[in-house]
Amino acid sequence: MSASNGKSPPSSKPTEPGFSTLSIHAGEDRQKIAHSLTDPIVCSATYTFSSTQAVIDFIQEKQPREEYGRYGNPGERVVERKLAALDAGEDAVLFASGMAAFVGLLMAKLSAGDEVIFFDECYHRSREFCTKHMSRFGVTTKQVKTGDYEAMAAAITPKTKMLISESPTNPHLSVVDMERFGALGKKHGVETLIDATLATPYNCRPLSYGIDYVLHSATKYLGGHNDLLAGVITGSKEQLEAVRKLRGIMGAINSPHNIYLLERGLKTFELRMARHNANGQAVAEFLANHPRVSKVYFPGLETHPYYSVAKQQMRGFGGLITFLVKDADWKATAKVVDGAKIARIAPSLGGVESLIEQPMVMSYFEYKPEDRARFGIHDNMIRLACGLEDTADLIEDLRQALEG
Ligand SMILES: *Cc1c(COP(=O)(O)O)cnc(C)c1O
Repeated sequence: MSASNGKSPPSSKPTEPGFSTLSIHAGEDRQKIAHSLTDPIVCSATYTFSSTQAVIDFIQEKQPREEYGRYGNPGERVVERKLAALDAGEDAVLFASGMAAFVGLLMAKLSAGDEVIFFDECYHRSREFCTKHMSRFGVTTKQVKTGDYEAMAAAITPKTKMLISESPTNPHLSVVDMERFGALGKKHGVETLIDATLATPYNCRPLSYGIDYVLHSATKYLGGHNDLLAGVITGSKEQLEAVRKLRGIMGAINSPHNIYLLERGLKTFELRMARHNANGQAVAEFLANHPRVSKVYFPGLETHPYYSVAKQQMRGFGGLITFLVKDADWKATAKVVDGAKIARIAPSLGGVESLIEQPMVMSYFEYKPEDRARFGIHDNMIRLACGLEDTADLIEDLRQALEG
């Protein structure tokens, strides 16, 4: 299947194995230590050499192997190969969190005097890193309205080094036209980054549309069990080389135990995503028809402004839904959140447990009202991350929370 039939993201090769086969087998050696079926957790901070000549061979890149734990560990290399395969990319660099990946990429690629341009709907910490911290190193951040490609093109100058967007965006679920975004970068010789955490490689593969770098917070759907933090950048080997080198200096690497959890979580990635997609769609449709709900942000609804582009480039739309409670102030909205009996109140998304939160409280409580308005964060907004519970139970839980 190809992107053009609107059913699935494109694959790199027509003969490529399916998602479950890739998530179970890709990147792993067939034969492992002690004939183990699963990858061992290699708990070593450092790696020994049999002789001085072995050290020299390693330095001269004659013998690929581990050296010191900050530069990588065997499990991490396996999961990097697996994630590169899932994203149809050449390479992947794992970090200790999604934000560590974002910071690592930007620090590796940007220098004083450079500019980055963002679509304005985004994870608040990504924005904060650029506006509060990259600015201290002489990097300028410009923000344009999400989906306004003309404004983004107009904002590009010879100093622009990267165009950045999420897709779908958090928490508004706006979807970027990957072809258009990638082409905009190529036309101006500017690299492009898509944070595809909410899409995952199962629902969309931005690299196939000519995007340079894809970021995933593996804390979310890739890990999938709300029990680990990790982040990854996928792209070409050449473009990621500097990122990998900087990671070795930053030290934002995953411990062997953490990597084991991520690899284990990925085994069921395709099954989990199919259920997240199904739950998201069903719950979004329920909410769209509920009298206490005035608006639902979910790209799988025909009323969503980005429905047609989402349908074209995504296989499904994930489990994250944002909605507005009709005529409610922030306290009345909090009552709905507090009324949920299955979904737990917490930030994050993409795990087996459903999570619910009010962005105005959870992420923007200390912002000025005018800044919240500028970022489209309404007092009556609820963000629901559908987990893998039974669809009917999730719907019933929301019904009682809204009507209770
Ligand atoms: C959670 C998230 C991040 C940050 O990832 P961490 O693993 O929490 O550091 C970045 N982007 C998006 C879209 C996210 O949802």
